[in-house]
Amino acid sequence: MDAATEAALRAQHPVFWSNPGRRPLEEVRPGLAVGLDDIRAAADRLARFGPLLAALFPGELSRTGGIIESDLIPLGPWAAKGLPAGDAVWLKADHLLPVAGSVKARGGFHAVLRLAETLAREAGLLDGPMGDTTALAGPAAQAFFAGQTLSVGSTGNLGLSIGIMGRALGFAVTVHMSAEAKAWKKARLRAVGATVVEHAGDYAAACAEARQEAAAAPTIHFIDDENSLDLFLGYAVAGLRLPGQLAAGGIEVSRERPLCLHLPCGVGGAPGGIALGARLAFGDAALAFFVEPARAPCMLWGLATGRHDGAHIGELGLDGRTLADGLAVPRPSRLVGRFMEGVCDGVLTVAEVDLPRLVAQAWAQGGLRLEPSAAAALAGPARVRGAGLAALAGRPASHIVWATGGGLLPEADFAAVLALAGEDACS
Ligand SMILES: *Cc1c(COP(=O)(O)O)cnc(C)c1O
Repeated sequence: MDAATEAALRAQHPVFWSNPGRRPLEEVRPGLAVGLDDIRAAADRLARFGPLLAALFPGELSRTGGIIESDLIPLGPWAAKGLPAGDAVWLKADHLLPVAGSVKARGGFHAVLRLAETLAREAGLLDGPMGDTTALAGPAAQAFFAGQTLSVGSTGNLGLSIGIMGRALGFAVTVHMSAEAKAWKKARLRAVGATVVEHAGDYAAACAEARQEAAAAPTIHFIDDENSLDLFLGYAVAGLRLPGQLAAGGIEVSRERPLCLHLPCGVGGAPGGIALGARLAFGDAALAFFVEPARAPCMLWGLATGRHDGAHIGELGLDGRTLADGLAVPRPSRLVGRFMEGVCDGVLTVAEVDLPRLVAQAWAQGGLRLEPSAAAALAGPARVRGAGLAALAGRPASHIVWATGGGLLPEADFAAVLALAGEDACS
């Protein structure tokens, strides 16, 4: 990284970093530890457990047979300001994903189901690979899971998804929360019967403590946000489903009409999984850009230095305290960073003052209730265009702004973010 970019990171100024390690898919593929087959297996698992999910959450999921997927919504001209006339901007409405209200529904639910499946097989509660998964909603399975504990470190939404799904299956659940986690997320978890442990330190510290506790006990299962392939593969299912969804919407993707994904990034699992799934599904016509708060650019720092989880934003004089609580992570995942070395096209950072503004804009212009972590992605299209990348030169692009969360946000919390934007506009 050049000195000017590093200075801008230190000053919390918005930065666009183009990844010099990005390679064509054909060069990257042989070195990848997972492929389309692994992501298909995760999609198959989610499908196999659809009937179980529909039985556990009938109000929200019986309509889709337990499949959890979100719509692609076209955004108006307000979202395309500053873009060439041929560009189009879409919003991937993961903030409205049922049950979890965030992108964590795919990754978190997949990780819990994978574990439940393994444990239930060992205990003789689930027959063969095609056994009836609704058996896991029955009393025998519930009694068995009650003797097992799921443990997870979370800035909020991962804990919510693991807590809601784990408790529905009957597991005991302990969620280790960092200082950034919002009070309503803790309250909601306690309401479903999860234990919330609050940590004064940052996200990495909360995870480390949870990991240690689980290592000591065979009935405690730690879902490791920084190292879980099951989480990553669950997130990647979204990328795999994109071609069908875009085709149904009449959106063409080719080298002459590239697809740009704008993905909010914390430890990297959600954006990394989506980016890899999309690259494998579309090839080089799909470009992935990560969006981070200027106060917590951990993936940018990890990729640019090549040190991944050895890189900490404290080295840049940053403490990670940001309104985008879902992205308030000081250190990226090594597992994900290694996958992204040749896959991620670039990372951009969003100034702290712009986060509430983007939330307010999405609400005023699009009627979208997004949390700051999700609204950050709205900065992507114009910033990517402003970077003048060769792959996009002279070509019209389709942009997907990935709205990663906000659906469960209580009215008062949403109003408080809007008020921040208002104050700023007046000052
Ligand atoms: C978790 C989360 C992200 C980022 O996911 P990571 O796997 O941590 O990179 C983005 N937005 C929201 C709302 C989230 O909850």
